[in-house]
Amino acid sequence: MPRLVAVGSIAYDSLETPFGRRERALGGSAVHFSLAARLFTEVGVVGVVGDDFDGEPVLTERGIDTSGIQVVPGGTTFAWEGRYGYDLNVAETLDTRLGVFEHFDPQLGAAHRDAPVLFLGNIQPDLQRSVRAQSNAAFVALDSMNLWIEIAKDSLTAAIGEVDAVILNDGEARQLTGEATLLKAARAISALGPRIVVIKRGEYGAALFVDGRFFGVPGYPLEEVFDPTGAGDSFAGGFVGYLAASGQTSPDLEHLRRAVAYGSIVASFNVEEFGTERVQRLCRDEVDGRVRDFHAMTSFVLA
Ligand code: AMP
Repeated sequence: MPRLVAVGSIAYDSLETPFGRRERALGGSAVHFSLAARLFTEVGVVGVVGDDFDGEPVLTERGIDTSGIQVVPGGTTFAWEGRYGYDLNVAETLDTRLGVFEHFDPQLGAAHRDAPVLFLGNIQPDLQRSVRAQSNAAFVALDSMNLWIEIAKDSLTAAIGEVDAVILNDGEARQLTGEATLLKAARAISALGPRIVVIKRGEYGAALFVDGRFFGVPGYPLEEVFDPTGAGDSFAGGFVGYLAASGQTSPDLEHLRRAVAYGSIVASFNVEEFGTERVQRLCRDEVDGRVRDFHAMTSFVLA
């Protein structure tokens, strides 16, 4: 039985950045998340694809449980087309073809219902609530996107009220709460219910708000960045994967701080190549090595 179950989109992404383009790259929130989280713990994916989908071996060869992926005969897999300018923190959606994703009604099988940790990746927030209601997980984390804040804010607010941790980027946190500073935005999100709020800040790092306390890391400095797609989901995979492996259902501040560092480092690998290319090849030793570098770079001794 997987320790960590992730529900989300499974996609073919067409991506354009100032540094190149890719057609029909394997993507989606559940895919980016699980490829990152499998570096830490056993992961099961719940999602839907059409019979045009040929990405399953990429997951199974890396030990990811794909028994929760539903294949709809005659259907086509969700396809997203996105573009980035030189500000890689802002994605522009050019096209979204929902395909089988339009009628996605996620159902958890018995083994998935009892997994101790659940990740609700980016899907319509009522579906996130439905999955949350089916699960017996002791720890639940949620991610979302600007689209749902725009068209389903009440549902998203309700979904946030039912989880332990929320992971959003800074723009989404501001848009959701109407607050200009991250501190106020995080406090407003926490007031909806979750104990833990993580705000991703793209190349500038990430911030953690928990029990009224703050922790922040910068972005890991990179020489080359090719494609930010999936950075948010691979951050979440590192963060939630690390916590799932720790076995704590109410993680303490020290675990949470380390989880933010792991999330940031996995995301830093993700953006060095297109789509899932780099994280597919990533191994735990490389992550641990870069986490040690990151620690050395970000700590100092008080005089
Ligand atoms: P991020 O980690 O925020 O860069 O998320 C990137 C992934 O989000 C891509 O691989 C897309 O396939 C996926 N995506 C884009 N739009 C949607 C949507 N409306 N619902 C679910 N997933 C999406």
